[in-house]
Amino acid sequence: MIISRLAGGLVPYTAGEQPREKTVKLNTNENPYPPPAAVYRALKEFDAARYRLYPDPTAHSLRRAIAEYEGVGEENVFVGNGSDEVLSLSYAAFFGGEDKPVLQADVTYSFYEVFGSLYGAGFRKVPLLPDFRLDIKGMAALGGESCGCVFANPNAPTSIAEEREDLLELVRAFEGKAVIADEAYADFSHVGTLAGDIRDYPNLLVVKTFSKSRSLAGARCGYAVGDKALIDVLRTVKNCFNSYPVNAVTAAVAEAALRDTAYFRDCVSRILRTRDSLIAALRALRFDVPDSDANFVFAEHPDVGGEELQRALRARGIVVRRFDRPRIADRLRITVGTDEDIEALTGALKSILG
Ligand code: PMP
Repeated sequence: MIISRLAGGLVPYTAGEQPREKTVKLNTNENPYPPPAAVYRALKEFDAARYRLYPDPTAHSLRRAIAEYEGVGEENVFVGNGSDEVLSLSYAAFFGGEDKPVLQADVTYSFYEVFGSLYGAGFRKVPLLPDFRLDIKGMAALGGESCGCVFANPNAPTSIAEEREDLLELVRAFEGKAVIADEAYADFSHVGTLAGDIRDYPNLLVVKTFSKSRSLAGARCGYAVGDKALIDVLRTVKNCFNSYPVNAVTAAVAEAALRDTAYFRDCVSRILRTRDSLIAALRALRFDVPDSDANFVFAEHPDVGGEELQRALRARGIVVRRFDRPRIADRLRITVGTDEDIEALTGALKSILG
């Protein structure tokens, strides 16, 4: 078997299922609504002759649009092929090969561990508190013993968000070391974004995606906002990996999506309304569901195990996500779909639970 020592030790991230048949798909936190009309227009107007050329390696026009949207300079923006790629390159840029571990929660986005092992960065897990909140004080106390820190806000799969001031306390505890705030779901949260705080915190890197609130998971586009010094290192790492990670069509549609703010706000508020009714319906069925700040909820039933529920839902054409991991194996992570999706889900749950 020809396999490198590096690849031999890797345990990859397992993405959620993309079923071939028609299902009620509530497993990968996609947006249930299509992208804005501006995206359809951008696709129609895209001149295929441009495909002859490589795209702009700096994705200048898209970065300028992101910079305007976030209220930062263009030199503060880095874009990549999905935020997973941005996170991956960030691990290489700030944690790769360091002697000290990267700090993360025990229950969080499971890709972080994978990036760590890919780039030879150890990780240290700080358990979430019993109510699934981030142990910010516990993490801050370990600042000196780690090379940096990563968290998702709102956290996945818990859906819980921490307040901005508390997170900035964590950023301060890691002065001189990178702190990555993964804000894949921040548009659904009352806390919003830390992007404006990069001015005061040169060690803070805020990572975002077009996959969730912007309905562009298939286009693969994510970005990071941070101090110019951090962005410069990311660009160096990117140029050691792939000069043109964002393809020309994706750059055009992402920019178009960003400029359609009215549609974006409308979609997000519809999702938040459906989230309220989903949580109420689940609680009426006796599920334990923390208040959610994301476009998904994290539910556990007192009588029926997670695996059994997931299987019974799948048999009824409803796909939800479950992580077979300590503390959370009996919980289902359910994406907030349309009102009709949620009706189908609660109908199925009623029949399963009798
Ligand atoms: N961060 C978190 C917490 C996520 O749940 C996801 C989606 N799996 C991502 C990042 C990556 O999203 P994408 O690569 O589609 O931008």
